[in-house]
Amino acid sequence: MIILRLLGHLWMCPNTLVGLFLASFCGYLHHDGDALLFVTKPDSFITRWMRGGGFFGLVKATVGAVTVGACIIIRDDQWELWSERQSSIVWIRFIKHEQRHVWQQMVGGVFQPLAYVIGVGVAQLQGKDPYRDCFLELDARRASGES
Ligand SMILES: [Zn+2]
Repeated sequence: MIILRLLGHLWMCPNTLVGLFLASFCGYLHHDGDALLFVTKPDSFITRWMRGGGFFGLVKATVGAVTVGACIIIRDDQWELWSERQSSIVWIRFIKHEQRHVWQQMVGGVFQPLAYVIGVGVAQLQGKDPYRDCFLELDARRASGES
């Protein structure tokens, strides 16, 4: 099992390097399982990007967190809400959801972001919500018990 986890980290290493670059503009919180948790700084471009611009301009929804490789980057105002209730079901589901995205990248490696973009496009073409109905989001919600 440890070998598979190591291979997964090696396979998604390029994603994690991008995540670490983005995280260099954030504050480090702690690690949880295979993930490193970071929180954005209030005036950073990442915070502005997560609050309104959507994710890479492809997903118009505002995001509370983004997972790039092993890095989970949490928007500062979401962290303020969640940090006080880390034992709550909302926090546990959130962590499970984001860790599922880490797992997806351990399996899909550099192809996972491409699969995500395709999933968003397919949902959009089907007239569905591009974020909520992306198959990787559906998988993460199922894994975390959200739906
Ligand atoms: Zn998600």
